[in-house]
Amino acid sequence: MIAGDSAGYLNGARLKGIHLAIKSGIMAAETALQALLTEDFSSNQLSEYEALFENSWAREELWAERNFHQPFENGALAGLFNAGVSMVTGGRGYGVANRLEGHAGHERLTRIQRYFGQDHPHPPEKMKFDNVYTFDKVTDVYNGGVVHEENQPAHLLIADTEVCITRCTEEYGNPCFHFCPAQVYEPQPTADGRGKVPFLNFTNCFHCKTCDIMDPYQVITWVPPEGGGGPNYKKL
Ligand code: SF4
Repeated sequence: MIAGDSAGYLNGARLKGIHLAIKSGIMAAETALQALLTEDFSSNQLSEYEALFENSWAREELWAERNFHQPFENGALAGLFNAGVSMVTGGRGYGVANRLEGHAGHERLTRIQRYFGQDHPHPPEKMKFDNVYTFDKVTDVYNGGVVHEENQPAHLLIADTEVCITRCTEEYGNPCFHFCPAQVYEPQPTADGRGKVPFLNFTNCFHCKTCDIMDPYQVITWVPPEGGGGPNYKKL
C-alpha cells in the first residue's frame, strides 16, 4: 500500500498534502488491521485500500485537480487560465480530454547540442557570489545546518556511473554537477583519465530530490537517509 506523497497525493493547486497523507495513512492502517484480524494478506484483501480511497473525499479532492499541472508546460498564463476554467468544469480544464497527458521532468531536458547549436559554451562560466545575498554551495550547506550520520550507507545511489562519463557528459554536460544545490555530486577525474565521475558527498544533501527527478538517464535513486538527518529547516 502506497500512501501520502509516495503515491502523489499532493493537491498541487492548494500546495497542500499533509491532510491527504494522514487520510491515506488512516485508510492503509484500517486495511492492514482487517488483514491482521482475518489473517488474510492476499492482494484481494489488501485491495480494500484502493476501494476505501476511491470512495473517500481524498479521491474527490484530487480528481478535481487532475489537470492542474500539465498546462503550465505552456507557460504561466496557460496554466493559470486552465486553473480558472478547472474551477467551473470539475477539473476538466481547457483540455478536450478528460485527463491531460503529463510528462516527467527529465523528459523536458534539452540536449546541449540542440539548445546551443555548434558553439555551445562548455564548460559553463563560473558563477560569482557576493556573500551577502548569494553564497557558494558549500557555504549554503553550512548555513542550512545540514547534518547526517557519516557512517551510514549513502542514501543516493548511482546505478551506472559509466553513463556519467560518456553519454551524459556529451549530451547534457552532467547536469547533476550544476543543479544540485549542495554540491553532493563533485566531479572527480577517473583513474584512467577518460572523464569525470561524480564523487558523492551525500552528507551535504538538502533532500530537494532534484537529482532523482531530473537526472536525464534516471540512474540516480534517492531514498530517505538513516537517523532522520538532513537540513535544519529553521535555519534555511
Ligand atoms: Fe543534491 Fe537535492 Fe539530490 Fe540532495 S536531493 S543530492 S541536495 S539535488
